[in-house]
Amino acid sequence: MTGHNNLNDAPQVGGALAHLAVTDWAPRVVLLGRQGSGKGTQADRLAALYHVPHISTGEAFRAAVREGTELGRTAQVYMDRGDLVPDDVTVGVLREHLVKEAGLGSGHPGGFVLDGFPRNMSQAVALGEMTGLDVVVNLDVSTEEVLRRIAGRRVCLDCKASYNVVNDAPKVAGTCDHCGGQLVQRDDDTEEAIRRRLQLYESETAPLVDWYTEQGLLATVDASGSPDEVTERTVQAIEAARRREALR
Ligand code: ADP
Ligand code: ZN
Repeated sequence: MTGHNNLNDAPQVGGALAHLAVTDWAPRVVLLGRQGSGKGTQADRLAALYHVPHISTGEAFRAAVREGTELGRTAQVYMDRGDLVPDDVTVGVLREHLVKEAGLGSGHPGGFVLDGFPRNMSQAVALGEMTGLDVVVNLDVSTEEVLRRIAGRRVCLDCKASYNVVNDAPKVAGTCDHCGGQLVQRDDDTEEAIRRRLQLYESETAPLVDWYTEQGLLATVDASGSPDEVTERTVQAIEAARRREALR
């Protein structure tokens, strides 16, 4: 189980974004977006601003790989190829995290930010059977832009914070701002695996945009520009969804 997704480890959002903090609502949010759209970065910030857990299936799998568990050995085969981990495995992992971190099934379920799940229609159906949602945010950015960003992507070996040498650089090159850990490229950020993941996104995940639009849950956010700009837009989209819900 990853410690990274725990609320206590969430980065504090201060400075220019502090005014966005929301304390009286724990929304249930799904983030959609291509690899490199900034899902992980935005999910961390939203989790801190709304005081809800950030649940990332990709990060859960990477933690299992690091810990050398059976789940990790299973997942690694798929991840190295850029393929999706089988649905039964992935849905099980997601459910476990929702139970532990968002109180699913406890009688007092809370909010969450899901990053990297659902990734296809069958996962979306499984999620719908577990919980309702308040808003699905589609972080929209072109393929050319994401290819540029992925090349610059770095992650902290210790606390898993993510950076980008292009548009979200750490204060000291190669060193994590939060914990001083070493910044490295992800194992699955090879050109071939990325191309495969982007293809799978178009064929498997992009159809969810239409599906959630039909359910009246989708908000599209322009994910070009600085991480702070995207956070501003995303919080606006979530707050607009909240006002719509209040009117229902
Ligand atoms: P990216 O968005 O860059 O692909 P993630 O961290 O979301 O990165 O996922 C990394 C890998 O973990 C994926 O390529 C896939 O193998 C696996 N994975 C993550 N989420 C899912 C999911 N919902 N279903 C199947 N596999 C997943
Ligand atoms: Zn760190």
